Amino acid sequence: MNNFSYVRVASVEDAVQRAATDQAAMFIAGGTNLVDRMKVFLDQPSQLIDISRLELSRIEPTREGGLQIGALVTNTALADHPTVRRDYPILTRAILAGASQQIRNMATVGGNLMQRTRCPYYYDTVFACNKRQPGTDCAAVAGINRMHALFGASNHCIAVHPSDMCVALAALDAVVAVEGPQGKRQLPFVEFHRLPGETPQHDTNLEPGELITTVTLPPASFAKSGVYLKLRDRASYSFALVSVAAALALSDGQIREARLAMGGVAHKPWRSTGAEQFLIGKSAEEATFRQAAEVALEGAQPLPHNGYKVELTKRAVRRALTVSAKGGGIV
Ligand SMILES: Cc1cc2nc3c(=O)[nH]c(=O)nc-3n(C[C@H](O)[C@H](O)[C@H](O)COP(=O)(O)OP(=O)(O)OC[C@H]3O[C@@H](n4cnc5c(N)ncnc54)[C@H](O)[C@@H]3O)c2cc1C
Repeated sequence: MNNFSYVRVASVEDAVQRAATDQAAMFIAGGTNLVDRMKVFLDQPSQLIDISRLELSRIEPTREGGLQIGALVTNTALADHPTVRRDYPILTRAILAGASQQIRNMATVGGNLMQRTRCPYYYDTVFACNKRQPGTDCAAVAGINRMHALFGASNHCIAVHPSDMCVALAALDAVVAVEGPQGKRQLPFVEFHRLPGETPQHDTNLEPGELITTVTLPPASFAKSGVYLKLRDRASYSFALVSVAAALALSDGQIREARLAMGGVAHKPWRSTGAEQFLIGKSAEEATFRQAAEVALEGAQPLPHNGYKVELTKRAVRRALTVSAKGGGIV
């Protein structure tokens, strides 16, 4: 491991200024992803900027009736928050589907958004990886790619984003607030993460030195029926092969509002606005959900080993919509 310096900052301004003046510095929050990456030399920061004591650990109601979540709120605190459990249960379920209780106790919201792919070719430094070392190659393209993307991949990278929480945040129209050397700005959640294109080393649209400060959930009456369905190789402590966050609001059996996002299928949480639009005004029944799943998977481009994900995701979409139409709950 390379030598690096460590500083614990007391203000957002200090954190941002240090990151802006040293491009090889990195923020550390709970450390549950970054320390693992440092141990296998994926990241070799010159400086760790410990943000864990910043005043970003509050969950507060917004004037509009939503919820503002500090970037340092732990996954456990967010999942357990009474308002989240009551008004955004889809988020609680997505968080509890991930990692372990001990990891969730340390892991933060900001860190969850910024966690990097679990592509085995990224983690194993024996293999070429454009995300780890731009311009080398993507060993996963000709490798075992059963875990990889169906949508939005490029020849340079076929990895998927690993987060569960982020799939729910995409469905909930969350907004990410950041502060950086150029000031403050907000990004709609669906624009926060990027597709790989020719620059897969960049996972997000954050500029150098920018710090996530909060994530805001708008009020969402549809969210109470929210469902998160995660399918994986083993029942716990495993990343999603595919996952679905779905929420429907009904009036007299007709779909009034719909949200649908999928995980494990792209380099970013994959929101299907096409399927949402298809659902609106339709009757909440099996035939509708079956067709919506077809729409959601339109344009999927399976790789040699992940064709199974197309049918698996369709079934997961159908199941999640069916449960949401009955009021939500555990799938
Ligand atoms: C064994 C294991 C299993 C897991 N399983 C799952 C799972 O099933 N589902 C799932 O979703 N996740 C899973 N995780 C991932 C876990 O949720 C993340 O490691 C965690 O959310 C990262 O948060 P952190 O605060 O520890 O981030 P850190 O490790 O401190 O940081 C991660 C990255 O985020 C950056 N960062 C942190 N905070 C900010 C900020 N405010 N602004 C800008 N950049 C920031 C850091 O610089 C770093 O690059 C698992 C992790 C482990 C170790």
